[in-house]
This record gives sequence, C-alpha cells and structure tokens, in this order.
Amino acid sequence: MLVVMKNDATPDEIERACSAIRALGLVPHPIPGDTRTAIGVTGNRGAIDATALAGLPAVLELIPVTKPYKLTSREMKSADTVVRIGSVEIGGPEVIVIAGPCSVEGAEQTLAAAHAVKRAGARMLRGGAFKPRTSPYAFQGLGGAALDILARARAETGLPVVSEAVDTDRFDDVAAAVDVVQIGARNMQNYSLLRHAGRARRPVLLKRWMSGTLEEFLMAAEYLLSEGNRDVILCERGIRAFSDYSRYTLDLSIVPELKRITHLPVIVDPSHAAGRRDLVLPLARAAVAAGADGLLIEVHPEPDRALSDGPQSLSPAMFAELMDELRVLAPAVRREIATAA
Ligand code: PEP
Ligand code: MN
Repeated sequence: MLVVMKNDATPDEIERACSAIRALGLVPHPIPGDTRTAIGVTGNRGAIDATALAGLPAVLELIPVTKPYKLTSREMKSADTVVRIGSVEIGGPEVIVIAGPCSVEGAEQTLAAAHAVKRAGARMLRGGAFKPRTSPYAFQGLGGAALDILARARAETGLPVVSEAVDTDRFDDVAAAVDVVQIGARNMQNYSLLRHAGRARRPVLLKRWMSGTLEEFLMAAEYLLSEGNRDVILCERGIRAFSDYSRYTLDLSIVPELKRITHLPVIVDPSHAAGRRDLVLPLARAAVAAGADGLLIEVHPEPDRALSDGPQSLSPAMFAELMDELRVLAPAVRREIATAA
C-alpha cells in the first residue's frame, strides 16, 4: 500500500504516519517527491486494515499496490529514479556508456582499456575482479589485486568503476573499492547476496538471469530496495532461447516494458547477449532506440588475447566507432550520449 501525505505535511507528521505503520507490524519506506512525500508500506501478507492510518491528519489518501513488487513499481513511485555516481547520472535524459574489459587481467591491460574507453567517451569503467565462470578451471579473476588495479584506473582516468561481487564473503571488499557493485546474471536469485547488497551503501547494477522472467527480475530488485538500497540499475543481458548463432538472445522488448512498470533505470549489455563482437554495434544501436538508459560494453586492448569473453570484446577502435555511431543515432530518439563534463 502507498500512503500519500498532503503536500504541506511536516516532517513530524510524516514520522507519525511511519510510527502508525510500524505499530501495525509493517515497514514504512518514505519516498520524497517533488510536491509531496509518499510512504510505501511493505511487510503485510494480506490486505492491510488501514483505518488507523486513514484518520491521521496529514494523510491525503491510501492507495493499494496491486503488483507483487512494491518499492520497484511505478505505482509506489511514479518519477524516474536517477542513480547518481559522482557526476554520472543513470536514468536521466542522457544515455550512459559503461565500458571496459570482462576481467581485470593486469595493470597494463586494464589501464590501456580504461584510457581507450575514456577517450572514446565512456562515462564509467567496468572490469571483473571476481569472475563467475561456468568452468571451475577457467580464469576466476585476480580478486583483491584487481580491485587495486581498478582503483588506479579510476585515479588515472577519473572514471567511476563497476565490478562484480559474486558472494557475500567478499561483497564488502568490492563495495569499498568500487563505485557500483554488479550482481551478475547467475546471482540474480541469490537472496542472501541480494539482502547483503540491499544493506550496502553502494549503487547496485543488477543483471537479469538468462532464465529470469520480468517478475522474477523485479522481485530480485525488490530485495535490494526493501533492505534500503534505492540506487539500483537494472541490466538486460540476453536470455536463453533457441538461437544457434548468438550466445544468448537480447530481449529488447523488456526495456520499454520495464520502463513502463518500474521507476528504476534500465541499461543493456549487448556484449554478453551477442557473444560475438560483430553483433555488438547493431545491438547497441537497437538498445538505445528501445529506450535504454545506458549500455555495458566489453572492450579489451587485445581482444584475441583476453582471458575471458574475448570473442565478444571490442577493440578500442571498434568501441570508438560504436560511440560515433551512437552519437548519430541518439538524437533521432530524443536522447544524447553523455560526454565527460
Ligand atoms: C560480466 O559482466 O562479465 C558477466 C559475467 O556478466 P553476466 O553476469 O551477465 O553473465
Ligand atoms: Mn564478460
């Protein structure tokens, strides 16, 4: 349920409404808006007996929220959420491109990638320190050493950094070192990891599992929001279908559908969906046209020597071409590709 406060409600009156919600054994989530505050209510298993709330002086109206996802839904918060990472705003009018290697393989490789993507106009750097690999024998990432390299790349380029946390054990180390913590596709339904990330004070980039439905995806985001983390970015990265020419199938129709039902920013990762570098540019264009708020692109200084995801990684020259193409396309759909301030 959503408790909409009158636009002249005082902080005391908002707190009184929150206390009344708590007294019912429920959890209040104040959502400040431009003109008034609303309070999302979660924790009920059935309908709420709201008589105690309806009588409070500064309460304007009580609106039932019909969807199973509450805090992520536009029924609770109609205005777009803009996630701010330094001067980067994801979910605003500009399209943000995040780029870098699949894995941090060493300082030289990561710094070369970081400088190249910055030159081409990326606003954030990606790079995996802890890698969730299908094979236990595959390169698993450099771990803590990679976090130090990412910190150096950030210091040299000024680009905020996103990197994945694969478990709760090392989550806090990743969160301390980076600007945005990625929760990978395979962990979309790792509920202890989601709860942990929800309590962290770091924005989270949540990827859709390759078999995750839209509802399961939003319920995963709901774990993050229900624990207090409102800075959540959703990422479509391809689902499992019967394609025999690409690694996954990029489900672009989820972009406008998510934008319709959630206020959270939605970005697209064409690299993992394609699995082939020649498909990345056309899919990136299509993602921007479909309304994505950003893109996550794998770029490696020497893609053919990459320790993970080389076939889908762009060279710096291909990435620069992609950025040029997107700058041409974006205005046609009334967006701009963000450039460094
Ligand atoms: C990645 O971003 O390198 C990654 C492992 O992605 P996903 O979780 O989408 O497979
Ligand atoms: Mn990868």
